[in-house]
Amino acid sequence: MSKPVLSVIGETQLELGSGDEQAFGNWRLRRDAGGIAWALLDCNGSSTNTLSEAVLTDLSKLLDGLESLMPELLVLRSAKPGGFAAGADISEFRDAGDQEAAAQRLRQGHAVIDRLEGLSCPTIAVVHGYALGGGFELALACDQRIAVDGAWFGFPEVKLGLHPGLGGTFRLSELIDPTEAMTLMLTGKSAHTKKAKSLGIIDEVTRERHVDAAVRARLGKKKSRDSRGLKAAVFDLGPARKLAANRMRTQTENEAPRRHYPAPHALIDLWESHGGDRDGMQKAEILSFSKLLMTDTAQNLIRVFFLREALKKKASGASGIDRVHVVGAGTMGAEIAAWCAIKGLRVTLSDLKLTALAKAIKEAGRIARDAHLSDLEIRDALDRLMPDPKQYGLADADLIIEAAPEKIDLKRDLLSSIEARARKDAIIATNTSSLELEGLASVMKTPGRFAGLHFFNPVAKLELVEVVSQPKTTKKTLSRLNAFIGAVNRLPAPVRSYPGFLVNRVLTPYLLEAGIMVDEGMDPFAIDRVAERFGMPMGPLEVADRVGLDVCLHVADTLRDALDKPIPGVPGWMRKRVESGRLGRKSGEGIYVWKDGKPDKKKDESKPSLPDDVRDRLILSMLNAAVECLRKDVVSDADTLDAAMIFATGFAPFRGGPIQYARQRGKEDIVKALEEMASRHGPRFAPDAGWADLA
Ligand code: NAD
Repeated sequence: MSKPVLSVIGETQLELGSGDEQAFGNWRLRRDAGGIAWALLDCNGSSTNTLSEAVLTDLSKLLDGLESLMPELLVLRSAKPGGFAAGADISEFRDAGDQEAAAQRLRQGHAVIDRLEGLSCPTIAVVHGYALGGGFELALACDQRIAVDGAWFGFPEVKLGLHPGLGGTFRLSELIDPTEAMTLMLTGKSAHTKKAKSLGIIDEVTRERHVDAAVRARLGKKKSRDSRGLKAAVFDLGPARKLAANRMRTQTENEAPRRHYPAPHALIDLWESHGGDRDGMQKAEILSFSKLLMTDTAQNLIRVFFLREALKKKASGASGIDRVHVVGAGTMGAEIAAWCAIKGLRVTLSDLKLTALAKAIKEAGRIARDAHLSDLEIRDALDRLMPDPKQYGLADADLIIEAAPEKIDLKRDLLSSIEARARKDAIIATNTSSLELEGLASVMKTPGRFAGLHFFNPVAKLELVEVVSQPKTTKKTLSRLNAFIGAVNRLPAPVRSYPGFLVNRVLTPYLLEAGIMVDEGMDPFAIDRVAERFGMPMGPLEVADRVGLDVCLHVADTLRDALDKPIPGVPGWMRKRVESGRLGRKSGEGIYVWKDGKPDKKKDESKPSLPDDVRDRLILSMLNAAVECLRKDVVSDADTLDAAMIFATGFAPFRGGPIQYARQRGKEDIVKALEEMASRHGPRFAPDAGWADLA
């Protein structure tokens, strides 16, 4: 993260003031001869500033000193090159105690921020890089904000099932158009410098080398906080706020239903009831935040935050991989190659067909544009991506990724010819999604350097990559591959070779169960709605159409042959559709008719309403397979399993993943439901033996 920031600030040293320095724990205070005090946030033992309780206690001590000898002007700034502050210390949200204890700590935090705001001298926050969450709230408590070009501001709290809790709700809605303030808080999106300036969040944009002059120019100029715009005044009127709040509620309900995601709705309630009344809003913010913190949603989303951190940790270290050769420029090969080039690696891409290579290069341009790269960055990324029909790059590559069609004999031939041409120390990986690696490794002379890298489609959107080991893969190969996945900004989930590996093993019974329900005469739209209401980003039938019915069919058949447990049968209608070329989104029709990349979904009123067990049939199919994967050590632990399902499939994040859902619902209840469904629908629902061991 610090690299782009440093490039934006031109690698110059941060202007951090001068004069005698006093230390206040995580803060340093410098007072220069001109009467300017520089309060520098420099969190101990971390490259990033976060707003912990200790940081606020230290700030309180610093304010004691300032209040006894008031400077002419106070500058608040971060001493870290990466940015201002990344938000709250999220670990404190995990162990927040009961609601009253949480509210009490919030009141103490508010008291410190209020004191900063109440200083009689002008106060300026100078922000470079990011000012997020609590960091943004700190900046909002200053009279003015100077941004170093490239700075960005945001309130990501909703992503954790919360809303701003240190005064952000009222300070931002007082400072700028309240509806814009609400949009920022409700979406969790950040505002980059230009947008932040146009919204009125910042007073001035400057370059790092001009920070000192920009600060000095504001000596003696305390900005009044009463200069609220007309728009803010309009929303001081209850009826206007009510109208706007209702509009926000409808929109929010579509994206984040209240029953699953209470935070954005609590924020709307807060503003509707107290907007324009600072004291009321402050009290309500503390109450609402502490209440939200106790919800399962917030605790599960906080858990997901740490699951992501844990996967990132697995990706640490150096991969030693700079050059990648990708074999097969189809759907996946093209995306993998483009993504690696975008992330700075040198990539060669081969295919039997020149047309596939040409298409892949075109695709790479689109992926780069979608990733919001500048024209210059797109040009550089495309320069790093070389079509290579003769496979010259293979002999030089540090990593070769095979992404040819899913046919075992073809892959075996390819892999042994790749091995013959690759450097001795190069790693060879396959992107197979359903073939067990043992059968591929057996053709290799040096299987220690062979593993699976199972990227998901689309690579640019789905963060997870399964790093698949087979019995002979060496530890070194795996740690280099994990580090490589981290280097291309994806999350590695280490799994072992098994039919469907982890993600497809867990997902396939769910997709097939939905197929059987269609066979039983249920409405596809209604089936998908059940899964969506559970919290899945889209229903199983839409997923099947997006993945391709042919691909689903192939994975299902492979799994059925390889597993020692029953899985739902492939319904006849699905096979027929594949045979007739109705493959899903890619052919324009599958289960749904697709228009402009979207399924034309409508409720079929002629179909009867769904039976009660539809949700359990879908979700518990996944859970039963997940427990099997744990029992069979396909994945080392429940946290990695939950993380993989969330980051690869979007499994309802507010439920914390399949295993967390099982724990919260109670395994006895689940086992009972499975047994009942086994007697109604067949042995595919028989509870896995692993339930007994699930902690
Ligand atoms: P695809 O059919 O779109 O592309 C395969 C490409 O390989 C084609 O361009 C073909 O011309 C080329 N090819 C065939 N034989 C070759 C050879 N001998 N040498 C070089 N190139 C050759 O397939 P895909 O969907 O990209 O799948 C590739 C792999 O990725 C498969 O193993 C598949 O299981 C896996 N996968 C696919 C998806 C998906 O959603 N499509 C997701 C994850 C993994």
